[in-house]
Amino acid sequence: AKEEGRGTYRFYTPSLTRVANERLALEARLHRALADGELQLHYQPQFATHDKRLIGCEALVRWMSPEEGMVPPARFIPLAEETGLIVPLGSWVLRTACVQAKHWLDGAWPEVRIAVNLSGRQLLDPNLAERVAGILAETGLPPERLKLELTESMIMDHVEQTADLLRGLKSLGLRLSIDDFGTGYSSLAYLKRFPIDELKIDRSFVQDIPDDQDDMTIAATIIAMARNLRLKVIAEGVETQEQLDFLRRQGCHACQGYLLGRPMPAEEFARMVLGATNE
Ligand code: C2E
Ligand code: CA
Ligand code: CA
Ligand code: CA
Repeated sequence: AKEEGRGTYRFYTPSLTRVANERLALEARLHRALADGELQLHYQPQFATHDKRLIGCEALVRWMSPEEGMVPPARFIPLAEETGLIVPLGSWVLRTACVQAKHWLDGAWPEVRIAVNLSGRQLLDPNLAERVAGILAETGLPPERLKLELTESMIMDHVEQTADLLRGLKSLGLRLSIDDFGTGYSSLAYLKRFPIDELKIDRSFVQDIPDDQDDMTIAATIIAMARNLRLKVIAEGVETQEQLDFLRRQGCHACQGYLLGRPMPAEEFARMVLGATNE
């Protein structure tokens, strides 16, 4: 506190350099991680709300760093986006998820459906639809088994490009879901313009049910709107039975969250969720 005015400048200069250096180091390690196979996918189950039937899963990337242990995606996805590494990383995620889903389709889980997250930077790739088509063809996963999750802000940032791009993706026969629904700067008009199949209610509207009346109203309103627009609606971050009961009463089609199953490695998913004796 003492001499704050004078000390501030001297303090920030080395600190910003340090932050920049740490980012560079992280970026270099992330490059290596992708090349060296340190990335993994975990799979979180999704269930029909009314009868708890397994209806799909979401693939979530994990970085198993030899130095740091598990690095959460929140720490490296934004960096990968800024540096452009998200494009090869995103392709790796999509390919790996499709290979896994095809494996389950042919064995332990003939009804498999898999959701994969896209990042904004991937949407700027004019060849995204071809890239996705290529990966589907290569892995043999039928397109209707794949769902891509995008956020509202990704769409609203590039409305013009996205309209064409989403139509291109849809024409492959896959499904599109709006992730973190309700949190973005949003114009509901895009729901009409874009070929969207599903809304995913953001965890922030689910976590305080039943204590927060406003969140309950928002969740109920999203569910009602989705149903009226003949869209599917899924809630994420369901952690309690009260939340599940509320969502069921409102007619939410599907649920995902720690109450029903955490993200887990493929072998564990096969054992715990599919009840398979081998992967
Ligand atoms: P998201 O797509 O909204 O994913 C849901 C996040 O909520 C996941 O965090 C999941 O582990 C966590 N979660 C699931 N159920 C619950 C619950 O009941 N309670 C709580 N508190 N959390 C729950 P995760 O895996 O850390 O991923 C964070 C974000 O990183 C994702 O948010 C997504 O935006 C991004 N991400 C993850 N994998 C990928 C990927 O392969 N590609 C891209 N572009 N982004 C990814
Ligand atoms: Ca997601
Ligand atoms: Ca989400
Ligand atoms: Ca989120």
